[in-house]
Amino acid sequence: VFNFSSGPAVLPPEVLRQVQAELLDWHGSGMSVMEMSHRGPEFGQILAEAEADLRTLLGIPSNYKVLFLQGGAHLQFAMLPFNFAAADSTVDFVNTGHWSKVAIKEVSRYAKVNIAASSEDKNFSYVPDEATWQRSKDAAFLHYCSNETIGGVEFNFIPQSNGVPLICDMSSNILSRPVDVSQFGMIYAGAQKNMGPSGVAVSIVREDLLGKARSETPTMLNYKTFADNGSMYNTPPSFGIYVAGLVYKHLLAQGGLAAMEAKNIEKANVLYAAIDASNGFYHCPTALADRSRMNIPFTLADSQLDAQFLAGAEERHLLQLKGHRSVGGMRASIYNAMPLAGCQALAAYMAEFAQQHG
Ligand code: PLP
Repeated sequence: VFNFSSGPAVLPPEVLRQVQAELLDWHGSGMSVMEMSHRGPEFGQILAEAEADLRTLLGIPSNYKVLFLQGGAHLQFAMLPFNFAAADSTVDFVNTGHWSKVAIKEVSRYAKVNIAASSEDKNFSYVPDEATWQRSKDAAFLHYCSNETIGGVEFNFIPQSNGVPLICDMSSNILSRPVDVSQFGMIYAGAQKNMGPSGVAVSIVREDLLGKARSETPTMLNYKTFADNGSMYNTPPSFGIYVAGLVYKHLLAQGGLAAMEAKNIEKANVLYAAIDASNGFYHCPTALADRSRMNIPFTLADSQLDAQFLAGAEERHLLQLKGHRSVGGMRASIYNAMPLAGCQALAAYMAEFAQQHG
């Protein structure tokens, strides 16, 4: 089966097999990771290795904290203003689609928001040219979403910080390519695309931004709470962290993020080529330069064929291709765990289907 789900996403089969092998007895401890005290030496080792491996993968500088949290990316939307923006301050957002909008809506409840740029005029099909962004003078931070999972729009550059903390929702493209962490105030991501099972979120936050939260910030919404307690203020999502740690080791063994980037470019190219070669039978709405390597939305010129396309795909074990309910059509999500063979199988099916129905 090739599973094109946008999330929770597929994990590498090697990792799942290792989880299976260790499920009842982790490294001869006689315990499942689920059953271990999170304050015991075994889990301490698992957490320390997960953090160290993530630091190696992303080249995270020593003045950044790595935090394993719960509440998904959604809870981070709420944590942002409490931690990084005084009540009377303005924060800048770039609005490139669904997830930008959800973040904007939540942050607007607690701070003034300036939309520095938006691609809503063209149905969120592109990244606005940075030269046109209208940033406020004293923004508390600038936020953007590096890959819009639903729209399939991905930044191929890191915005200038201009001395303002740059905060990025990398939920759906983290670990898919190398990234210069030192350019950011904070990077955050839900784990469930490229890192591990849902239930874990990761924040990589520059230390000097910690400790300035609003006084009314709930303890559990304060990043410093987790930074001061090694991600263990309360019971952490221990099993999810363990699986994420195995994913990090798997990525390192494959050559790290430069190797993943090369694979991801090749995979995405196979599918975009299938769309572009179809003489309009398939269409991808995203501007060429901003096409995502992770999520590839496409429509059929005749949407009456959608159901038939999906049924034929399922027969060929190409699963979960239905597009998001807000945009319709199809979406192929091809995170790190999707092999090239999956993209090739889908491209071959697309060509065959277009030939039969075009
Ligand atoms: N941001 C992006 C880019 C996403 O793709 C998602 C979920 O798909 C979210 C945020 C929300 O994540 P969560 O469900 O972990 O809150």
